[in-house]
Amino acid sequence: MKSNLAEKRDYVSSTNACKACMPLGASIAFKGVEGCVPFLHGSQGCATYMRRYLISHFREPVDIASSALGEGEAVFGGGPNLKQGLVNVINKYQAKAVGIATTCLTETIGDNVPAIVKEFLDAAKVEGPGGKMPALIHASTPSYAATHAEGFHAAVDAIVRQLAHPVARHSGINLLPGFVSPADIRHLQEVAKGFGLKATLLPDYSRPLDAPAGTSYEILPGGGTPLADIAKMGGAAATLSFGWTPYSQAAGRDLQERCGVALHDLGLPIGLRQSDAMFEALAALAKREIPSRHADQRGRLLDAMVDGHKYLSGKRAVVYGEQDLVIGLASFLAEIGVQPVLCASGGRGAGFRENLERVTEGLVRETVHAEPGVDFYRIAELSRELKPDFLLGHSKGYLIARELGVPLVRVGFPIHDRFGGPRLHHLGYRGAQEMYDRIVNALLEQKQSESNVGYGYL
Ligand code: SF4
Repeated sequence: MKSNLAEKRDYVSSTNACKACMPLGASIAFKGVEGCVPFLHGSQGCATYMRRYLISHFREPVDIASSALGEGEAVFGGGPNLKQGLVNVINKYQAKAVGIATTCLTETIGDNVPAIVKEFLDAAKVEGPGGKMPALIHASTPSYAATHAEGFHAAVDAIVRQLAHPVARHSGINLLPGFVSPADIRHLQEVAKGFGLKATLLPDYSRPLDAPAGTSYEILPGGGTPLADIAKMGGAAATLSFGWTPYSQAAGRDLQERCGVALHDLGLPIGLRQSDAMFEALAALAKREIPSRHADQRGRLLDAMVDGHKYLSGKRAVVYGEQDLVIGLASFLAEIGVQPVLCASGGRGAGFRENLERVTEGLVRETVHAEPGVDFYRIAELSRELKPDFLLGHSKGYLIARELGVPLVRVGFPIHDRFGGPRLHHLGYRGAQEMYDRIVNALLEQKQSESNVGYGYL
């Protein structure tokens, strides 16, 4: 069916991109490995921008090293800078791992990072902790080719390909949660523990990017997926991988193909049905019943959905962000009686439209308008026509919400204009409950503030 919405004009530039930089996503993934320092092979400005962007969301110190290329290296190659930078980082941080991500500059000039790293290792005189050379992981992340989400998953895939190899089979499982909040990671750890499963969750930045206050500054914060556990991922009984897009499924597929680890691909467990799928998969792997506390959480969520239906039924929402997150949010909105009128993402990964159709089938009254590869100029243009009751996404949609006079319910990344983004839950029954309450309250607050009566009872 042809849409009546304004056609996208034929232009190539972006106005306020609905995505961030690819190595920025890789840096987040590298922060989730024990003792790992993210290292950008490129100019200093890239690392400075990413540090500022991440600190504003996570409100933690985020060190990202750089090979600090200048004009000369752009012409003659950045190999010597990369090698000197590795020496400095290993000596200064005593890092157990260094996660090297390329930038637009080094991808464009064609620096061969694997070859430079091999030369460095062959000639190495430096030593990390315990007299050992740290693990040097490298991911190719040309930002002009993709988004921060794809950079995140490219780094996860690189970690698995370079550090996990076939080993003796054991009873543990691998959990690849995708790009979720530190609070979500902690929740998944509790859930796996509740099933009695020994899960290697990769990456685990729940502590490095949301750390308790300490009495002294730690140059390398604790936490992260232990390197010894990553090395055993190739012997796990199964991998549970969350995400609908090919890039979010890459690491799980690699473990399956190279190491024969059984793969269970699920979508991000957002909302009732996708959370059910996660709990059922965990129950099957653990060979036990779903713990009663999760059954209770599910029951409370259903009860809230019944109680709040009068506030949400028939409402219309614009959803935007990373593709996997948007598909999960659309699935959740369709379950709670909200029509997702526009689902937009800066990512162009395959299957966006198809998966949106699949997760909303039979639950929505209108066709969900899916727009991959868009910027906020286009999202604003469509939102003016579609007249949503609220927006669901990160802080960068605020100007559209303000122009339309509707609430923005903040989820995902980045959240630069509110406090506590890393502690938002999105996954499981707990995440669905939190989001449900926040959406209902945002609409009630809107109704209250627009009324000149001053109702204290809604
Ligand atoms: S988009 Fe390219 S040039 Fe800009 S910060 Fe990212 S890697 Fe650097």
